[in-house]
Amino acid sequence: MGKKKKQAQAKSNRMQNLTLATLIVVFLGLGVFALVNNLMGGDKGKEEEAGQEATVDEKVFVYDQQPVFGNEEAPVKIVEFGDYKCPSCKKFGEEIYPQLKKDYLDNDKAGFYFINNQFLGEDSVTAGIAGEAVYAQDPDAFWKFHEAVYAKQGPQSQAWATKEFLVKLAKKEVPGIDHKKLEQAIDKETYRDQVEQDQAIAHQSGVQSVPALYINGKPVPNSFDYDEIKKMIEEELKKGK
Ligand code: CA
Repeated sequence: MGKKKKQAQAKSNRMQNLTLATLIVVFLGLGVFALVNNLMGGDKGKEEEAGQEATVDEKVFVYDQQPVFGNEEAPVKIVEFGDYKCPSCKKFGEEIYPQLKKDYLDNDKAGFYFINNQFLGEDSVTAGIAGEAVYAQDPDAFWKFHEAVYAKQGPQSQAWATKEFLVKLAKKEVPGIDHKKLEQAIDKETYRDQVEQDQAIAHQSGVQSVPALYINGKPVPNSFDYDEIKKMIEEELKKGK
């Protein structure tokens, strides 16, 4: 090998070594970046990519102003956002709620809260106002009335949740309350503010559709997947918060 060729070869080797060193530095740098990114909460971005909604700060729900079934002191709080005219909400009440009631509410392991998200027409709001009015008179009567409205739900396309319908239903299902007072509350829209406040809570919580379920502020991906709901509740029970 000639002198010039040797020099060229050595230069080439140096270049290769330099390139290798650069690559190592870049890889190390990337590694450190990834580590820092993870430590800084880069995982949040991954959750968003997976389409998961964020946990809601439970203060937003104002639990003590919402109707609760089961144990309000329990470490697990389940929130349902619903609309009285929504067929899926009726279905949730018939298929999922009874299982929740049996497994976690009747034995005081959890508390179940209902928050209005009445958006399917003006009579949805009327039904919400009636619900709040019954709750204001008698918190226990609320749940009976609530279930009855779903049981007698009419077609979404029709304005069936009228004052006449709701008062008649209340007379039959919750005979103990003052029906005249209920009628007046519907006429004067006494509890419209409460319904609208609930809607603001739904908005703040990122509710996209109803029924929307939250367990200790954590959004349930599918309100009809009882296995998943159970898993989430059991996890919260373990924490014992
Ligand atoms: Ca409410």
